[in-house]
Amino acid sequence: MRDIKSLTLEELQEQLRAWQQPAYRASQLTDWLYRQRVTSFDAMTNLPRGLREQLAREFTLRSLSLVTVQGSDDATRKFLWRLPDGALIESVLIPANPALYGEAADRQTLCVSTQVGCAYGCKFCASGLDGWKRNLGVEEIVEQVLATERWAAARAAEAPADLPAENPATSDRAVNNLVIMGMGEPLANYDNLLKALAILNAPWGGNIGARKITISTSGLCPQIRRLAEEPAQYRLAISLHGATDAVRDRIMPVNRKYPLRELVAAGEYYQARKGRMITLEYILIAGVNDGSDQVKPLADLARRLHAKINLIPYNRVEGLSWERPTEESQDRFLAALEKAGASATLRREKGHEIDAACGQLRLKHTASEAQPPGSAPKPAPG
Ligand code: SAH
Ligand code: SF4
Repeated sequence: MRDIKSLTLEELQEQLRAWQQPAYRASQLTDWLYRQRVTSFDAMTNLPRGLREQLAREFTLRSLSLVTVQGSDDATRKFLWRLPDGALIESVLIPANPALYGEAADRQTLCVSTQVGCAYGCKFCASGLDGWKRNLGVEEIVEQVLATERWAAARAAEAPADLPAENPATSDRAVNNLVIMGMGEPLANYDNLLKALAILNAPWGGNIGARKITISTSGLCPQIRRLAEEPAQYRLAISLHGATDAVRDRIMPVNRKYPLRELVAAGEYYQARKGRMITLEYILIAGVNDGSDQVKPLADLARRLHAKINLIPYNRVEGLSWERPTEESQDRFLAALEKAGASATLRREKGHEIDAACGQLRLKHTASEAQPPGSAPKPAPG
């Protein structure tokens, strides 16, 4: 059975028309789903009982169940959700961080997942450690935003009236910026992702501007080109993590399929179609990609793509042996890049003390369910 939150407004209208319902029912329905964020058809009290029953017979209306929420000092919140089939995924709510993605300083960014696990197996990443399980459905991507907003609304209601809410919503929406950087490779779940983003972008849905939505990819070239043809103006982040094939090959198996030459060509194509909307993500891993040999090729690449470089100190993953460089060598790498004429920022990872990097909370949770504390972690690759 399809979930009601996997349908666009046009599809809802068509369904309601087929049931001989008046046209205004569609906007009543989207209002319940995306503004009130109800979790049952029964709660849609201005719809006739017969229609509610018909909806419940034909569609599911599923929501994510919260397993844990972790907080850190800077008010980053990390959610671990359980899906209807028991699988676990994560979303991370990050308060305003100017100069990163999008423009507004009052925004709340949500980092969402697109798959259970990941097939791409980057050597440093927790998400790929157990391989790929499945794609998320459209409604499972959409629900991450709605469930987070439900949580934020419940917290705001609990807060004493004389205290400002911890994560004040600027409108009735708690989330106004999206980064598709959670678990999974977004462009490997292309159709579901694009439909979910169309719903989250629509004024009747999530109402999040396309320019406030950033899709991150490890470098799937055909899909980058396909995305360039879409009418929506989403931003693109490319997880580069190495400016030469030698470095990329060592840590990202995807580079053997789509080496840098192809990735840069696809990036240039995207840039040419969309304007300046590319960010290059570059996690700094000690002794792997933080050497001076990467500086010039990285700066050259960024220039060709008119891209900004986002340096992110590596977040340690339990069981893996990669390390983040010292702050001193992070700063040295940044300074060298700037000297080489690149536009770069160094992001001291928000929420790093709560395992904010992709896949880490799920990994811990699964490990604690599967094995007694203190037993052996996974062997480190590479
Ligand atoms: N699969 C997509 C999106 C999810 S990963 C991609 O790879 O782009 C989102 C970002 O987190 C990527 O840039 C990824 O390389 C980075 N990342 C993964 N593990 C990390 C870690 N341990 N520390 C810091 N960043 C990490
Ligand atoms: Fe998958 Fe991205 Fe992690 Fe690579 S970094 S394993 S593509 S989630």
